[in-house]
Amino acid sequence: SKAGGRNAISFFQPSMQEAADQRLKLEQYLRTAIDKEGFMLFFQPQVDRSGVMLGAEVLIRWEQVEQGIVSPADFISVAEESSLILDIGLWVLKKTCQQIKEWLVMGIHVPRMSVNVSSRQFRQPDFVEQIKAAISDSQIPPALLGIELTESVMIVDIDDTVTKMKALKKLGVSIAIDDFGTGYSSLAYLKRLPLDVLKIDRGFVRDILTDTNDAVIVETIISMARHLKLRVIAEGVETEDQFDVLKKQGCLMFQGYHFSRPLSAVRFAEKYLANL
Ligand code: C2E
Ligand code: CA
Ligand code: CA
Ligand code: CA
Repeated sequence: SKAGGRNAISFFQPSMQEAADQRLKLEQYLRTAIDKEGFMLFFQPQVDRSGVMLGAEVLIRWEQVEQGIVSPADFISVAEESSLILDIGLWVLKKTCQQIKEWLVMGIHVPRMSVNVSSRQFRQPDFVEQIKAAISDSQIPPALLGIELTESVMIVDIDDTVTKMKALKKLGVSIAIDDFGTGYSSLAYLKRLPLDVLKIDRGFVRDILTDTNDAVIVETIISMARHLKLRVIAEGVETEDQFDVLKKQGCLMFQGYHFSRPLSAVRFAEKYLANL
């Protein structure tokens, strides 16, 4: 109806304007954060069946004056809609390599650290060069670096993806597919790409005890990965029971609050690097 339409418009327009304003404000804040080094890196261990750490995922945190620590879930998607994500991605990459170097210089043994790479960042023509430069500037062994990409990279410009992945593989950088099973997985590409790891999305792990479909999906991913000679990391493991089921299903690597929350560099080093 006419009245309904009018109401809908008067209700909708201010909120859209508000959303756009908020977004602009967030973008401005993010720009300042990049300039003023307002970001931090947190580290979450990835463990084997005995709980021994084999690697860690690097997760960005944003310390904002008014709101304290802001989760990336709240700002990465905004950053991804502009070139901000490229600046953030490059910062994460450089900072991770510098942090690894800092620990090595202190005589601390460091396992592989994996950074999240947004599709937009991966698509940059000089992405491989950026990785090479970050590694050589910090003089770290390339095998200490890993990247996590989402499934979307498998469906866009597959030739470019294959070329870049092969170059990274040659360097010794490991490649994981993140949130596996949630995107448009193209199973055919799994064997064409030089991947190392599939990370089972935590959405499947969450209900693994109660939802048979999720349990079957997880078991299928684990067995498929074994045949393709890919490692699997189950994400979002929060309880002993989930850990047990995953172990029974043959999973070898795990990540989640059950083992540790993401930690600041100092706390991560204290808890996990000291006795390696
Ligand atoms: P993700 O790559 O899937 O990262 C895993 C997320 O799950 C992290 O959230 C982590 O803190 C959280 N998590 C880990 N274990 C558990 C658990 O047992 N239970 C639950 N409920 N959550 C768990 P976080 O740090 O908030 O990051 C959210 C997303 O933001 C990441 O999802 C990733 O897509 C993105 N992100 C984080 N750091 C970066 C970055 O440096 N660059 C880019 N491009 N994206 C990033
Ligand atoms: Ca990830
Ligand atoms: Ca994930
Ligand atoms: Ca995710």
